[in-house]
Amino acid sequence: MRKQSNNILLLIKFLSLHYLLVLSAAQDFDFFYFVQQWPGSYCDTNQGCCYPGTGKPASDFGIHGLWPNRNDGSYPSNCDSSNPFDASKISDLMSQMKSEWPTLSCPSNDGLKFWGHEWDKHGTCSESVLDQHSYFSTALGLKTNINLLQALENAGIHPDGSEYSLTSIKDAIKEASGYTPWIQCNTDSSGNSQLYQVYLCVDSSGSSFVECPVFPHGSCGASIEFPSF
Ligand code: AMP
Repeated sequence: MRKQSNNILLLIKFLSLHYLLVLSAAQDFDFFYFVQQWPGSYCDTNQGCCYPGTGKPASDFGIHGLWPNRNDGSYPSNCDSSNPFDASKISDLMSQMKSEWPTLSCPSNDGLKFWGHEWDKHGTCSESVLDQHSYFSTALGLKTNINLLQALENAGIHPDGSEYSLTSIKDAIKEASGYTPWIQCNTDSSGNSQLYQVYLCVDSSGSSFVECPVFPHGSCGASIEFPSF
């Protein structure tokens, strides 16, 4: 009798440990922020920018990242150091990565550092859903589904250094994508508030845009600059 209850106890311990392990590997986020960046607003700040040896990136929005986030506004980060960025896993995506996800940091480099940072910090937190190749190919695919610059240009909003109302920018993106974006501003070296990054939300499988369950914090002026690049 005693032996049997010991065995049952052992089984319960084993099952709870197993459950905990499964839980810790399970997805710990509710949706993604898909973040695109206007390069002109990265480069005209006090920090400045550098281009890779391949030259100046296109005058277009570039990908910053695909970030797992929770409905309460918090987010997981650096989830799996045992699965570090491995460029050889995305060798077939390299030319698209260079044009759609360009690095701008100094000193000039080939972009592996930027992509590696994004995978290690954010990508590892959605690895139960998207492996390394799918993580990057999903982000590249999302970019082709919404052409932000075209959406803005269609509404008469051009990267010409003039000011546009924040509302007109949001409306133009909503009109084109069907979803309300969140706009992040930064300041140029003269202190003007400008259009820096556009956040759109994506469901937890990375397959379609959704309305954002929660927006990040921070604010732009009512009227913001759209610098040239
Ligand atoms: P994250 O940690 O994903 O929020 O990304 C922020 C980091 O990415 C900061 O170190 C930024 O300086 C860097 N970063 C943002 N945009 C770029 C870019 N276009 N090229 C290189 N690094 C960037």
